[in-house]
Amino acid sequence: MEVSLKNQVAVVTGSSSGIGAGIAKSMASSGATVIVNYPFEGALEQANSVLKEITDSGGNGMVYQCDVSKEDQVVKMFQDVVARFGTVDILVNNAGVQKDAPFTEMTLDQWNTVIGINLTGQFLCAREAVKEFLRRGIDTSRSIACGKIIHISSVHEIVPWAGHANYASSKGAIRMLMQTLAQEFGGDKIRVNSICPGAIQTPINKNAWETPEALADLLKLIPYNRIGQPEDIGNLAVFLASDMADYITGTSVFIDGGMTTFESFSTGG
Ligand code: NAD
Repeated sequence: MEVSLKNQVAVVTGSSSGIGAGIAKSMASSGATVIVNYPFEGALEQANSVLKEITDSGGNGMVYQCDVSKEDQVVKMFQDVVARFGTVDILVNNAGVQKDAPFTEMTLDQWNTVIGINLTGQFLCAREAVKEFLRRGIDTSRSIACGKIIHISSVHEIVPWAGHANYASSKGAIRMLMQTLAQEFGGDKIRVNSICPGAIQTPINKNAWETPEALADLLKLIPYNRIGQPEDIGNLAVFLASDMADYITGTSVFIDGGMTTFESFSTGG
């Protein structure tokens, strides 16, 4: 069986940069029509340049502005995508932010912003995607599954992170959202999984890799001794969305160069 997403439509949230852009490009090169979602006017140029890379390589897609934390915008995005491309086959819930603060100084606004985008945004997009999957039903000319959802979580789904209580809480909650959806819609042949990246070189964690000293510190946490790239996540997302992964649902796949082996225990413990 081929790893192919031919004839399928994929919505990738927050894909004007970083991991989302990597996933959008990988999915497009595997044959999917990709919706490159971006949140605000200022990110349009970046979204257009991701789409240009896709179309220059013979792929297909569109850019679409939508703040995933806003219900009306999410509902409209799915309506518009279905109106233009007929349906949605794959949702990659990737959009996410960090608003870090020591716990006693964390404002309600920092908490709500992170939960609103990282968790509520994933809920809203998943709800609209599932409704569309169920409306369409299985079409084996596209996939043997009725639909696929991939949540972009994090190693912080299981690794506590001091100074990032809002972020770690959002990622921990994604695990339960993912598993509940996999359980609730398994009988409908909807597959739901999470990808849990370790350190991937993107704007969100620039301060962890932009100087040689910072990168050397980071690599101490990674047995495989390199920082991850968006393409690493793109390759996994394509596989998970493809029919090659048809028996995979309700699981979190860690892709972290061994970070969750807890390298600091390698010299004792
Ligand atoms: P990034 O900052 O490049 O990407 C985040 C994307 O989300 C941006 O394109 C941004 O425009 C978009 N976004 C922000 N708010 C949005 C909103 N309200 N609606 C729609 N889009 C919105 O960083 P990244 O590293 O590519 O992060 C992507 C995902 O990967 C996030 O969920 C992040 O938590 C997760 N992640 C990243 C790493 C890493 O090491 N980079 C590790 C684990 C998990």
